[in-house]
Amino acid sequence: MNYLAERMNAIDASGIRKVFALAAQMKDPINLSIGQPDYDVDQICKDEACRQIQGGFNSYTQTWGCQELRDAVAAYYERKFGVALQNVMITCGVSGGLFLALMATVNPGDEVLCADPYFVMYKHLVTLLGGKSVPVNTYPDFKLTAARVEKAITPKTKIVIVNSPANPTGVTLNADEMRALAAVAKKHDLLVISDEIYESLQYDEAPATMAGLYDKVLCLNGFSKNMAMTGWRLGYAAGPEDVIQAMNTLQQYSFVCAPSFAQKAAIPALTADMTPKVESYRRKRDLVYNALKNAFPCVKPGGAFYIFPQAPGGDGDAFVKKAIENNVLIIPGSVFSDQKTCFRISFAAADDTIIKGCEVLKRLAG
Ligand code: PMP
Repeated sequence: MNYLAERMNAIDASGIRKVFALAAQMKDPINLSIGQPDYDVDQICKDEACRQIQGGFNSYTQTWGCQELRDAVAAYYERKFGVALQNVMITCGVSGGLFLALMATVNPGDEVLCADPYFVMYKHLVTLLGGKSVPVNTYPDFKLTAARVEKAITPKTKIVIVNSPANPTGVTLNADEMRALAAVAKKHDLLVISDEIYESLQYDEAPATMAGLYDKVLCLNGFSKNMAMTGWRLGYAAGPEDVIQAMNTLQQYSFVCAPSFAQKAAIPALTADMTPKVESYRRKRDLVYNALKNAFPCVKPGGAFYIFPQAPGGDGDAFVKKAIENNVLIIPGSVFSDQKTCFRISFAAADDTIIKGCEVLKRLAG
């Protein structure tokens, strides 16, 4: 008997599996594929995590998370953006938040808009739930504009997912662009899910948030990227009361709660000075952009740690295969998009890795 549920047929991971299969044969690759910073968790958070474990804070917390962290999250958005977050709950990473949010809202047949290129989870989770993922073409500037969104809306559209700064392009939306998106969502009565996981890694424009722009904005954020706590599985969600309540109900029957000691130990992260990290990543952004801009058409990323250049001949799959054969690990754009013209580089790497990798890629393009 085949014990697997039919819904598993909806998820296709073959693209990324092929890359990993190729990558497994690489010895000591120049790795420009990693989606986490090359710095470690701040010492103050590590010490606090140890203190919490040793002190016995090892049990379940409330489903919605411990009060001190929820208050610290609200204070962070208030301080940074002047926005009072509504109904904050703690999730198991932004992945956990996305899973709960989409489980709580997507009915079979509902259409969910997101930018193409997109973060892979959006498309696959929506499909898994029987919804229809509708990628909005944002080539070549990769901006999810209000006009592009409005054109894609149908009577079945229920949700628009916004991700700024974006994975895999590093493209950011400023406050005006976000306001325009919120206005379109409001006009068509859509729920906005705003994935703000890269919000504190911005290099040019002032960071912006969708929170507070419209009462149907569900804001998701976390500690994986800014604080390098990818393994701590910690994030948060805030937004409309009915959605957050449904997410809590689901959390009760799935994740139960986020890791207890991590919740306490992340509190100092919300008042940490991000300036040195942002400066270091701005420099890495400049390094990669200046190295590649004359060899590949590419948009200068304003945030996160990715750049999404166009591959020679518009064939990202072929170019990535060639790069891997030459010991540089990058990801084909087709993993994140309905198009295969580009490839993703992560510059969350040591400077000499970035320099060496870009040299090889330029040689292969030439
Ligand atoms: N959203 C985006 C855009 C991401 O790039 C990632 C991580 N790659 C996540 C969400 C998930 O992050 P986490 O679950 O570690 O918080």
